Amino acid sequence: MTEFEKSLEDLCAERGMRMTEQRRVIARVLESSIDHPDVEELYRRSASVDSKISLSTVYRTVKLFEDAGIIARHDFRDGRSRYETLPDEHHDHLIDLKTGTVIEFHSPEIEALQERIARELGFRLVEHRLELYGIPLTKDDG
Ligand SMILES: [Zn+2]
Repeated sequence: MTEFEKSLEDLCAERGMRMTEQRRVIARVLESSIDHPDVEELYRRSASVDSKISLSTVYRTVKLFEDAGIIARHDFRDGRSRYETLPDEHHDHLIDLKTGTVIEFHSPEIEALQERIARELGFRLVEHRLELYGIPLTKDDG
């Protein structure tokens, strides 16, 4: 079993984090979300499971998970941080500027190109972030 196949709860336990019931709920909501929700949305989803969960608890918990390196935060330039569990396989994101929808993609060509650019600049690539911002094509775009 790789690290990425472990649940957030397992990862928290490994790091010695105390798991309250509310943290568990928030962890499960994060794991079941595939749409890169922001804190407000995570709060809505968590509160629908446990109405005692407050927005500030969600903020604190998400920060805790992020600081522990077990979830990823993205800034897709709409002024709110979005979150996702660490993916099994690396992917990049395309953001639909009309709707805010986040589409995940993986391009072997881009991955190889980035490695090559880094190498040519004298570096071993360790990590990268790539975000594409677009609006849906219309028939006028041909
Ligand atoms: Zn993603």
